[in-house]
Amino acid sequence: MHRNIWYPFTIIEDAPEPIKVQKGDGLWLELEDGRRIMDCISSWWVNLHGHAHPQIAKAIADQASKLEQVIFANFSHDPAEKLAEKVTQKLPGTLNRMFFSDDGSTAVEVAMKMAYQYWRNIGQERKTFICFEGAYHGDTFGAMSAGERSVFTEVFKDLLFDVEFVPYPATWIGDPDRTEKESKVIEKVEELLKENPEKYAGIMIEPLVQGAGGMNMCSKEFLQELHWVNRQFNTLLIFDEVMTGFGRTGDWFACKRAQVEPDIICLAKGLTGGFLPLSVTVCSDRIYEAFNSSDPIKTFWHGHSYTANPIGCAAALASYDLMVENESIFSNMEEWHLGHLEKLKNHPKLKKLRVCGTIAAMDISAEGEEGYLNPIANHIKEQCVDKGLLLRPLGNVLYLMPPYCTTKKQLAQMYEGIVSLIDEVA
Ligand code: PMP
Repeated sequence: MHRNIWYPFTIIEDAPEPIKVQKGDGLWLELEDGRRIMDCISSWWVNLHGHAHPQIAKAIADQASKLEQVIFANFSHDPAEKLAEKVTQKLPGTLNRMFFSDDGSTAVEVAMKMAYQYWRNIGQERKTFICFEGAYHGDTFGAMSAGERSVFTEVFKDLLFDVEFVPYPATWIGDPDRTEKESKVIEKVEELLKENPEKYAGIMIEPLVQGAGGMNMCSKEFLQELHWVNRQFNTLLIFDEVMTGFGRTGDWFACKRAQVEPDIICLAKGLTGGFLPLSVTVCSDRIYEAFNSSDPIKTFWHGHSYTANPIGCAAALASYDLMVENESIFSNMEEWHLGHLEKLKNHPKLKKLRVCGTIAAMDISAEGEEGYLNPIANHIKEQCVDKGLLLRPLGNVLYLMPPYCTTKKQLAQMYEGIVSLIDEVA
């Protein structure tokens, strides 16, 4: 551990020495000792096109020598305007007001503040959000309040605000109870809203795939029902697509795949193709218009030093262009995953196999050992680099989320590596 760095997500006392990475190149990472490993998880789900893509690197260099940063209050610039136009064109029609921020957590923070203030601006006091068990929305206070990951929130729980949690209806290939589970959650949401319809500022969900909570997957039908309930009770539906955005679910956005129009959407991670931190929260005109007032108290007072940084926006534009060129790759990957999952469906140590677009996940079962105690998951975490893979199980959940430059053959190599790692543990 470097003596001047406080590393995140590390139990300091028994933290292993971090592995030093020297170089990135497409799917590959080169380590200090010269070994090359495949980044099977797009480095925490951000590197859409792999590492150091020359087109994005060039766009960044060009922008850096033109305009690297400028105040974004009463000033604007081409990269931000072009990005807003292009991304909103790909979103459902109603989502067309883009607000810039810095990362996934702040995109969520903005969404929650927007929702809360929207109701205030139209004369209602709605403080509570409905969120989902297992959710992770980030680590700022609003995002923490909406998350249900005790390790992240335990210490701060007295400082968090009101959220009602309902189960995330996690499903998998061949799950016989899917519809029943989903109906129960919808009933629960309806119950809460019926009891006190004026209490809720919004419902926030990670649509189709709930990431850090264990790559839990729900169906598009469930999201359509949720949308319907949201309309019935006139709340705001917020989609946290920080992870699912930009092709991850096989379509440009989970909301498109599910054919649902949320009121607010949060996008980050893949936005710049993994090059720079930048995020956006996009809302409908209905919300925007509630802030359109000469009364300063109705203004949305939120903005950071680097809001809409031009280099970040230039990277995002280059990443967007690559997405347009590579659409077939991200929409084909589900088929490739399915071929491999089919072969694994009777593996004695794997269960709940699931896939959504470029994301495949499975639970590792080992006698009586779930979650972070799972010996196979720990073996994978410790030994994957020796097999030439970067993997990072979430508790006992193993998943793949490779960049879009991954070939069919490379994906097959990832599955081979996984199976041999699993089989090494008795
Ligand atoms: N929302 C979701 C769905 C996420 O997966 C994450 C990060 N894992 C966040 C929000 C927070 O994003 P960031 O780490 O960029 O703040």
